[in-house]
Amino acid sequence: MSKKMVVLGEIREGSLRNVSFEAIAAAKSAAQGGEVVGVLVGQSVNALGSDLIQYGADRVVTVEHANLAQYTSDGYAQALLAVIQDVNPDGIIFGHTALGKDLAPRLAAKLNSGLVSDVTRIEGAAGNLIFTRPIYSGKAFEKKIITDGLSFVTIRPNNIVPLVKDESRTGDISSLKMEIKDLRSIIKEVVSKASMGVDLSEAKVIVAGGRGVKSKEGFAPLQELAKILGGAVGASRGACDADYCDYSLQIGQTGKVVTPDLYIACGISGAIQHLAGMSNSKVIVAINKDSEANIFNVADYGIVGDLFEVVPMLTEEFRKL
Ligand code: FAD
Repeated sequence: MSKKMVVLGEIREGSLRNVSFEAIAAAKSAAQGGEVVGVLVGQSVNALGSDLIQYGADRVVTVEHANLAQYTSDGYAQALLAVIQDVNPDGIIFGHTALGKDLAPRLAAKLNSGLVSDVTRIEGAAGNLIFTRPIYSGKAFEKKIITDGLSFVTIRPNNIVPLVKDESRTGDISSLKMEIKDLRSIIKEVVSKASMGVDLSEAKVIVAGGRGVKSKEGFAPLQELAKILGGAVGASRGACDADYCDYSLQIGQTGKVVTPDLYIACGISGAIQHLAGMSNSKVIVAINKDSEANIFNVADYGIVGDLFEVVPMLTEEFRKL
């Protein structure tokens, strides 16, 4: 049975995050031939509508308002509720990002609907959508169906492959006029840290350092390798606790969950809490001077050696390509 699905396009620094295109691919399979409606919320966001259409959305609805220039759960919830009333979808898909994790449960609770979070696969069967999500730190997968109201879903970035962009695709981009009122908080200014380059949760390549990196300066060769590979730098909690790097880089059970194409773990022992955040990476390379380190149990390729010798050698080799 075909369904009508809505996808929230997530905007960061004026561009759509990749997970928005992955969400459209997920919505397409969930819609089973039905309509996929992209939604953009913000100020002056209309121009991004064609991107959503070229990646597979059938049409786009925008909600533009000065009070939506910065994300607030209150403002976005008002906008999304109006879109839901206007479009009357069967389900809504968000990225499993800070924004999606904040907004999707809020809307689902407001509408007494079911929510499945951190989904890595969507299948349609006999009227029901079946959502697959990892549990027990990625050791098992559960399949869920939603029996009540709309289906609210967040999808894990880097798992569902986006459709190939088709620049010839066209579709309607309409705007929904509404008042955004009585906001309980308004963001006046955003002071962001200096850009760390590629966004960790969406990076295709991650070079991560652990306590074996030994100092803040010890991260420099990892940054060099990440730069050559067009990737991001991550870290274990051991490295963050030792103040070698910022907690925003922490990967694991209490940090970010990542699934890059390539994860290079340098001087990381492979504690269960770290594996919870990276063991679903497509290819794992571990560099550790202890051949018994647990990280080698999940690695596809292991290098037993000193990371301060191995990482610069890898950088030099990749530089030649
Ligand atoms: P270590 O375990 O000290 O390992 C360092 C490794 O570096 C060793 O294997 C050593 O052989 C190797 N090494 C040293 N020098 C070199 C060198 N020159 N070259 C190559 N290798 C070298 N951890 C996380 O990462 N993420 C989490 O989200 C997280 N959440 C947690 C939640 C809870 C509730 C708890 C209790 C713990 C959590 N931890 C988490 C901590 C986790 O248990 C480990 O303590 C931590 O992951 C260890 O970090 P590490 O591997 O960098 O350090």
